[in-house]
Amino acid sequence: MDQTLESSMRPRNDNRDRGASVSLVNLEKSYGPVVAVAGVSLDIRSGEFLTLLGPSGSGKTTTLMMIAGFESPTSGDIAIDGRSVVAVPPYRRNIGMVFQNYALFPHLTVAENIGFPLKQRGVPKAERTKLVGEALELVRLPGYGERHPRQLSGGQQQRVAVARAIVFKPRLLLLDEPLGALDKQLRENLQIEVRRLHAELGITFVLVTHDQDEALTMSDRIAVMNDGKVAQIGRPEDLYDRPCSHFVAGFIGQSNFMPAVVCGMEEGVVVAKCQGILVRAVASQPPAIGAEVSVTTRPERLRFADTTVETGPSVNRMSVTVVEAAFAGERCRYLLKSDCGASMVLKEASSATIRRRAVGERTEIAWSIADTILV
Ligand code: ADP
Ligand code: MG
Repeated sequence: MDQTLESSMRPRNDNRDRGASVSLVNLEKSYGPVVAVAGVSLDIRSGEFLTLLGPSGSGKTTTLMMIAGFESPTSGDIAIDGRSVVAVPPYRRNIGMVFQNYALFPHLTVAENIGFPLKQRGVPKAERTKLVGEALELVRLPGYGERHPRQLSGGQQQRVAVARAIVFKPRLLLLDEPLGALDKQLRENLQIEVRRLHAELGITFVLVTHDQDEALTMSDRIAVMNDGKVAQIGRPEDLYDRPCSHFVAGFIGQSNFMPAVVCGMEEGVVVAKCQGILVRAVASQPPAIGAEVSVTTRPERLRFADTTVETGPSVNRMSVTVVEAAFAGERCRYLLKSDCGASMVLKEASSATIRRRAVGERTEIAWSIADTILV
């Protein structure tokens, strides 16, 4: 899917004021000696789709629970639309929440489940019926109101949970691994549904996931979390093309890493040496000469270059030996050993016109300096 095209097609500007803005300021949460959230500062924009992405235990759920008000911070502040909500109870924050396990009431019908938050808020019956009907339309389940949760599939139950979370028209929706219990095909369909819902409602969505593909395809911005902190925040393409650390480069997408020593700078580009072989890379900050670093690049940005004559200032080149060759449908995947001892993975689109490489073959690879990042 073309991410840039998709996002530019979404009618978000008209809806901007419907979504809450959220500011987290030095947010911390400890459980005794366990530091779950270790100083998170984050500005979530009105109407934005922001994802907290990170491995298990990185503090994503705890951060979300503090925004919702089910956990209180050990220190730091949370402001919604510019006003601190730390002292405001959950039910007065006007936030919708969806969990991984649906958490529907089994003894209530779908309509009663969805109407529950309205009843809690004292909304009269006629108005409730109307709003429940609208919410069922929004999640594409019209006519399902009289069923019980056990009469629905997992995907349908999760749609009901989403309907229940948006029926009272919150300005902010929090979703904690909402698709985690579903199989791959259903998950991908629902990812598209959740994005559509975001575009239609125009409210702010904060999604928690450990699935990098889900984060890349769904989000306006991603905050990558590690050890209770935000490791990097940015648009999906920023994180993919310009990871700021070894952790982010390894967690989002696949990356090759080459240990190297910094030799100097040349026209804004870092020159580093990997076992005697020079590699040029871009860096967010100029590194110290002599620093031991990693140079990283994506497998699909490497290409075989023994048949082409591209040289010059904008590419890195290296002699390699093919160690493993695998056909994987749309791509061929090669494990290469460079003369400097680094292992590299190269992915090439498969085509009947492209010669497959054999194990043991010696060849040359090339890749852009712009795709080579110092971390
Ligand atoms: P994630 O959602 O990213 O998997 P969590 O926010 O659930 O991570 O947890 C972050 C850390 O805090 C983990 O080490 C977890 O074990 C710990 N933790 C979370 N909730 C509690 C709790 N109620 N009591 C003690 N430790 C907790
Ligand atoms: Mg969690």
